[in-house]
Amino acid sequence: YFLAQIATKKHLNAFLEVYAEEALARAAQLDDSLTESGSLQGPLHGVVIGLKDVICYKDHAVTAASKILEGFTSIYNATAVERLLAAGAVIIGRQNCDEFAMGSSNENSAYGNVLNDADNDRVPGGSSGGSAVAVQAGLCMVSLGSDTGGSVRQPADFCGIVGMKPTYGRISRYGLIAYASSFDQIGIFARSVPDLAIVLEIIAGKDAYDSTASATPVESYSHLLHQVATPKRIAYFRQALEHAALDPEIAAAFRSFIKTLTDNGYEVEPIDFEYLDYVVPAYYVLTTAEASSNLSRYDGVKYGYRSNGNDVSLTQMYNKTRTEGFGKEVQRRILLGTFVLSAGYFDAYFTKAQKVRYLLVEKTKEIFSQFDAIISPTVPSPAFKFGEISDPIEMFLADIYTVFANLTGIPAISLPLFIHSNNIPFGMQVMTFQENDLCLLSLSEQMM
Ligand code: GLN
Repeated sequence: YFLAQIATKKHLNAFLEVYAEEALARAAQLDDSLTESGSLQGPLHGVVIGLKDVICYKDHAVTAASKILEGFTSIYNATAVERLLAAGAVIIGRQNCDEFAMGSSNENSAYGNVLNDADNDRVPGGSSGGSAVAVQAGLCMVSLGSDTGGSVRQPADFCGIVGMKPTYGRISRYGLIAYASSFDQIGIFARSVPDLAIVLEIIAGKDAYDSTASATPVESYSHLLHQVATPKRIAYFRQALEHAALDPEIAAAFRSFIKTLTDNGYEVEPIDFEYLDYVVPAYYVLTTAEASSNLSRYDGVKYGYRSNGNDVSLTQMYNKTRTEGFGKEVQRRILLGTFVLSAGYFDAYFTKAQKVRYLLVEKTKEIFSQFDAIISPTVPSPAFKFGEISDPIEMFLADIYTVFANLTGIPAISLPLFIHSNNIPFGMQVMTFQENDLCLLSLSEQMM
């Protein structure tokens, strides 16, 4: 069924590779084992899942949608993939995304744009655009993406599905191609909160291969989802609702969302968040710094693509390989990151951004001492048209509501709640305190 759907919707360009034969063989093997033993292989027996092209799957290609990883094959499974397979999942393919997960529109892939299935002239969001569209268009049941600054929540918003970034460290990053390691987190796309919850409880948890993976025991999210008492105290940032970049229809929907919550017995209160204008600059200083370091490993020697030319020096070979292998946006970020880390500018940019991050963490503790959750729109505007935003700084603004959760490590989700007058969906974001992933899921289930 899903292979047929993928063939029908090929124009969306959601998959870079489909493991057709392999997926069928795996499904047949799962069927056989069920007939023979009478029991399921695991809680995800036969669940069809797609992987963003930044997650390693043993003996399969992985390119981060970049030319520089052309021809590279994973030699091990990401921990998340290992756990999916052990639970009986069928991996159906590798999904298109922005190169090295850098972008908000999926226009930065070396393998072409992904189209939004709700309106093919519009972007699906990014960077996990292919993974979002695959779930939106019914090409698989669930996708794994990665969220460094909103890359799961923002495309989920643009595509009308559920997308969650758990607490930083809740899911091991082993086997996730690094963008900005202190922000990166694997996230999940699904059509409903319970679907998402069951996948999270399987892939979450401590991991000997990732020292930043949280050792806190994983709760049985799917069972507890409807059992825990739903918290009632909800805050929203006054400055978020008043922001000039916020689309008026989204602002109106947000107000009606607040009213619905209040009518349903929640206490919803505005709070001051004086740092809103600083979150995007702090995010881009810190993530580009980390990226410039993480991406230094792609030098034409160890992985993937190497520029041709026999009579060049080693330095020239590095130079040519990186010039030809990386796309424009990735090069821009390596330059920016190298600049903010350079002697003479380090304190003015990097140290300052670290201070902002520290302030945000303190602010988060203060807010969650009084509230259980924070709500906001996920993105200030609905899905835009291809080519509509050409200024990178304007594109960065799409992340204004999402990067806060990555800067502070808290869990956040986008819920598909509204349809815009131009007939495309958009959502609302809910955030809870660090490690309160269960509370976030149960609250989300109530709100859907
Ligand atoms: N749009 C953000 C960026 O380009 C988020 C990316 C992400 O979460 N991977 O950095």
